[in-house]
Amino acid sequence: MLIIANWKAYVDTTEKAKKLFTSAKRLTQYADIALAMPHPYIGMCASGPKSKVSLAAQDVSISTGGADTGEVTASTLASLGVTYTIVGHSERRAKGEADEMILEKVKRLLAHNITPILCIGEKERDMDATYLNVVRAQITAVFSQLSQKERLSMVIAYEPVWAIGKTAAESIQPVELEEMVLYIRKVLGEYLPGKSASKVRVLYGGSAEPGNARALAGGSGVDGFLVGHASVDVPTFSALIKAVS
Ligand code: PEP
Repeated sequence: MLIIANWKAYVDTTEKAKKLFTSAKRLTQYADIALAMPHPYIGMCASGPKSKVSLAAQDVSISTGGADTGEVTASTLASLGVTYTIVGHSERRAKGEADEMILEKVKRLLAHNITPILCIGEKERDMDATYLNVVRAQITAVFSQLSQKERLSMVIAYEPVWAIGKTAAESIQPVELEEMVLYIRKVLGEYLPGKSASKVRVLYGGSAEPGNARALAGGSGVDGFLVGHASVDVPTFSALIKAVS
């Protein structure tokens, strides 16, 4: 299982960042762990001894560098040893980030051998299942513009917006997740030949907590989780990882 912790802006002191990083190192025996942290902490964690915890960023600029105040480029992230970067998170889409910009970010990351974690997911569900078209369009906007090799370098995080920042009880049900993973793989199959669509890792995010993670992992076909609020408390994150391992 690949578990990506999305610290968002919850972690706002170096002490807390260090504590979470140290405890994550002890959890690498249970799962592949990546920590998507605010940019300043990446340098701090990268400067310590090598560990099995992968470094991840929560966003990247489309800038290629130079006179571009305030931007953090893919080359900067690569120079720090960042393995994964989240793109298209619903909290950034809500600030106006459109598919065109998301595609640009994906391209910048791939050019620097950083794996994009492409977040997709509907805002709400409707009886006519038009939410499936939303998910399809988000995948298509990116996958239709990539080469086969680039497509295989992607990770998808299915994060229904209605399930983010809630509780396990209000999150997606295992059977609903299973259906969505099948649907996502079907759409991916339109861009990747044969069985290669199954090589693209599909994660789930949206109130994954110790109480529901095992049920969501079992039989749904997901390859891991993107974890928000449950990743910034040491005992909670540890319990979640042990639950799915
Ligand atoms: C997220 O927003 O990426 C996320 C998974 O959040 P939470 O776990 O808090 O719902």
